[in-house]
Amino acid sequence: MGGGVRNALLGLPATDLDIASAALPGEVLALPLPGTAKEINRRLGTLEITLDGVRMEHTTFRRESYGPGGGHAPERVEIGVSMEEDARRRDFSVNALYMDVLSGEILDPTGRGLADLQARVLRTTTPDPAEILRDDGLRLLRLARFYGQLGFRVDAALVREARRQKGLIRDVSRERIAGEMEKILLCDVKYDKVSRVHPVLRALELLHGTGVLEELLPELRAAEGLPQKKKYHKYTVLQHILHTVACAPPELVLRLAALFHDVGKPEAVDRNGRMLGHDRIGARIARERLPEWGFSREITEDVAVLVELHMYDLAGEARESRLRRKCQEVGYRRFLQLAALREADVWGSGWETGPVATAERFRRVAAQMQAEGVPMSLRDLAVSGRDLMEELGIPPGPEVGRILRQLLVLCANKPSQNTRERLLHAASPRRGAMSEKQ
Ligand code: ATP
Ligand code: MG
Repeated sequence: MGGGVRNALLGLPATDLDIASAALPGEVLALPLPGTAKEINRRLGTLEITLDGVRMEHTTFRRESYGPGGGHAPERVEIGVSMEEDARRRDFSVNALYMDVLSGEILDPTGRGLADLQARVLRTTTPDPAEILRDDGLRLLRLARFYGQLGFRVDAALVREARRQKGLIRDVSRERIAGEMEKILLCDVKYDKVSRVHPVLRALELLHGTGVLEELLPELRAAEGLPQKKKYHKYTVLQHILHTVACAPPELVLRLAALFHDVGKPEAVDRNGRMLGHDRIGARIARERLPEWGFSREITEDVAVLVELHMYDLAGEARESRLRRKCQEVGYRRFLQLAALREADVWGSGWETGPVATAERFRRVAAQMQAEGVPMSLRDLAVSGRDLMEELGIPPGPEVGRILRQLLVLCANKPSQNTRERLLHAASPRRGAMSEKQ
């Protein structure tokens, strides 16, 4: 049932195996299965079954009723109802198709799933989209994901209702938002040939069209009509942001960084149309919004740092020695992510040309440094703080760390200096110079 049947009929890859039946959890657990079965959620009656190393989920047909305010768990769950009842708790008709495991027959209890699949349209399981969205605000995001990943159109009444009820997204719990945003931002990974428009771009355009995106990221409201310099950009700031996300490689941190990279522009724009400092403002917004969406501290920080760096050496004028120091400072992983973000930013501007060469330069510099074995952190240095204290008689204190950091920077451009003798030699005059100043 669900995505498995839908995808099989569409000839798309299955993402997971979901089985639904009238059998109660206890009955399934008592079956002599040639594998393992265990309970995942008692209230919902879901089980995890592993047969021949293949993991699947079993759900007993259930009815759900919701209280006021979408975004909460169902107020009442009734396990062991008919397939027709089970179909009604699902969101979209094409997600409510079932297959009889024995006969292979496709069952369509809502009576609209097969027709909608054929017409390639997203409609709710019941004729009243208002009710389906009201029960669970997450469906606003799911709608955008399926719109992107399946390449279907959305029924007009459903779009209208989503626009009307966009505010429901704010009732949804953080973890569910983060989980679904991740699915949206990576919805092209398995579904890359469903339409001519990039699946992620489609999904984001629907989120914007319904206003759900702006509910989550209010700073985007001012980006809608904000024009950019024609020389570099074909699109408004908002359109540029959405295109950049779709141009970024399918990695969560990169796609999020693309989504936030220019959100600081509306706040930064001055009377002359310049947008100075928008990178720092964007990083601040990312640090504020991402935890609200339920993303971890690590992801938030990774994204914010990339947003803050995204303008670094845009003109490609930095000397190579500076680039090497920057790469050492931020690390290979981030430096390469920065290169990828730069490319996405250029491609997302709508013009064929732009400072992509700077991204290639970042990569070349990083590869060269890696080949040379440049030390990237204090741990990689051939001397330790203890060596400095014992060999050069430097007293313990902050100066030891300062000298070590200077040695590291020295090695960014002269990796051959990373031997015990050379570093000790390099450190002694430094220390002399420092103590002379005092
Ligand atoms: P995918 O192939 O991407 O996994 P899917 O359709 O299987 O898509 P899931 O999120 O795995 O999507 O959910 C499985 C099924 O459970 C859906 O097809 C849908 O019928 C139902 N479902 C899941 N979450 C919801 C929800 N929030 N509201 C209504 N129905 C839902
Ligand atoms: Mg699924």
